[in-house]
Amino acid sequence: MRKLHRDPPGPSGNDPSTHATADVAKTRSCLRCAEKFESSGFGERICRRCKSSTTWRNGNTGASSRR
Ligand SMILES: [Zn+2]
Repeated sequence: MRKLHRDPPGPSGNDPSTHATADVAKTRSCLRCAEKFESSGFGERICRRCKSSTTWRNGNTGASSRR
């Protein structure tokens, strides 16, 4: 058996400070349009614009399919 979604604590991947910073809202670059936007924190990497675009692109008109 292998690890499903459990990553082994690496030397540079087990930084508590990094985890804390990831939860802080700050300006980031959108992974889709590379546009800078204010991330809410929770690992947000896509701007709202692209998010909404992806939403209707998938056919979900604001449905609670993915949260
Ligand atoms: Zn974007």
